[in-house]
Amino acid sequence: MSRVRFDVLIVGSGPAGSFAALTLARQGARVALLDKAAFPRDKACGDLVGPRGIQMLTDIGHSLPGGLNVGDMIVVGPTGRRVRLPSAAGHTYPGHGITITRVAFDASLQNAAVEAGAILFTGRADRPLEADGRLDGFQTADGRELRADFVIGADGATSHVAATAGLVEADKVLWGFAVRAYLNQPVELPAIVLWEQRRWRAFPGYGWIFPAADGGANVGLGIAMRSNRSEGAGAVRMLPAFLDHLRALGFIDRATPEPSRRLGGWLKMGMIGTTPARDRTLLVGDAAGLVNPLQGEGISQAMGSGKAAANAILRAPGNPADLYRTTLASAHLPYQRIAGAVHAALVGRPTAVAAAGRAITSPGIGAALAGGWSIFWNELLDGAPTSRERTVAAAVTSLGDRLTVRSHTARWFADVLLEDNSPIGSPRSAGPPAN
Ligand SMILES: Cc1cc2nc3c(=O)[nH]c(=O)nc-3n(C[C@H](O)[C@H](O)[C@H](O)COP(=O)(O)OP(=O)(O)OC[C@H]3O[C@@H](n4cnc5c(N)ncnc54)[C@H](O)[C@@H]3O)c2cc1C
Repeated sequence: MSRVRFDVLIVGSGPAGSFAALTLARQGARVALLDKAAFPRDKACGDLVGPRGIQMLTDIGHSLPGGLNVGDMIVVGPTGRRVRLPSAAGHTYPGHGITITRVAFDASLQNAAVEAGAILFTGRADRPLEADGRLDGFQTADGRELRADFVIGADGATSHVAATAGLVEADKVLWGFAVRAYLNQPVELPAIVLWEQRRWRAFPGYGWIFPAADGGANVGLGIAMRSNRSEGAGAVRMLPAFLDHLRALGFIDRATPEPSRRLGGWLKMGMIGTTPARDRTLLVGDAAGLVNPLQGEGISQAMGSGKAAANAILRAPGNPADLYRTTLASAHLPYQRIAGAVHAALVGRPTAVAAAGRAITSPGIGAALAGGWSIFWNELLDGAPTSRERTVAAAVTSLGDRLTVRSHTARWFADVLLEDNSPIGSPRSAGPPAN
């Protein structure tokens, strides 16, 4: 049995884990990067990396192997009305995102981490290893022991590290499940589609059709839940009917062959229910529940949190958890507190969702709000240039803050995210099942 000790063990080599590995390795840390999959591997995704993610890649000098620039986005309301959300550059991000397959994107980031000096291991983190009452590493399913001074859980929404370290309150988590497929047909602009299965009975989530870098399209449907994950299968079941809806709207040609390569995945959203760090264990990306509850983006947050966790370890090795939690809170809490509360409030209320979808895409409101809406729900307020759109986004944020300040999510953040000091090994409750 091989036994190796590192400065940092990173479990999971998606965007969060690879970005953390790259940041640490470039600063000379001895990093083990462990993933259960041999790369290149596929991952269910809309394949759209948002503006903040693109900026982070530019900052580290990483060139993507291909990809397609995308800017403005269409939102289609339940009645078929369309609103065009403009994409504008901010002070700290460009005015576009990029679509690129996760097969290519994730492999390119993993390669960059390895080139920076991270040591790659292929295997599943299985049995936790402890030393002095702390998580000290993992034994892989094939029996190798990887130990480290710090463990970063970058192992996705159903994180084994988070569950093992007792960092998940299963009954608080806001879940989503989404299924994607590829179409052999071009599409001009990315579109998010709000859908009523019956009049005034909204589907509890949304669908999308995005241009893909190879000239085709990435299409999918996502469903929102609270903590009960049994409803996730609804996205898979309803995908054929949703594709018919896209055909009726004219987004898919009747002659286009059925989509291929269907793949589904969980989204853990809104930060609530997961303590992102305690002692020497830090959770990043989906493991920390950072997905945007309103539009499903998680790649930029994954890379940003990977970088923040790495920097917390480098700058505050005596107590990285506090610095990391504070950094995450200042970056995401102003938005996630509102978005998480909205998500929680709308689940199980199809008529309210239908009313909200109809209102925001109605001719007067949609056009008036479009610019501010784009900044607000893409979490781009911080760094947005002074403009009427920024003012609208700031007003929505401030109103949302007032309305949600007494909410269950706001209380959780105050009690747990900002105050948590419990030692590792004192699980609050069992986490969700591992992947
Ligand atoms: C259908 C769908 C569409 C989406 N569309 C978009 C989009 O268009 N844009 C966007 O920004 N976000 C999107 N998201 C969210 C986005 O995919 C995630 O937020 C992002 O992948 C998070 O990155 P991560 O590194 O945290 O986790 P992941 O990308 O999930 O990577 C986790 C890694 O951990 C590994 N792993 C898991 N368990 C273990 C273990 N026990 N041992 C070792 N390795 C392990 C896995 O193999 C995997 O490689 C979508 C999600 C879904 C499900």
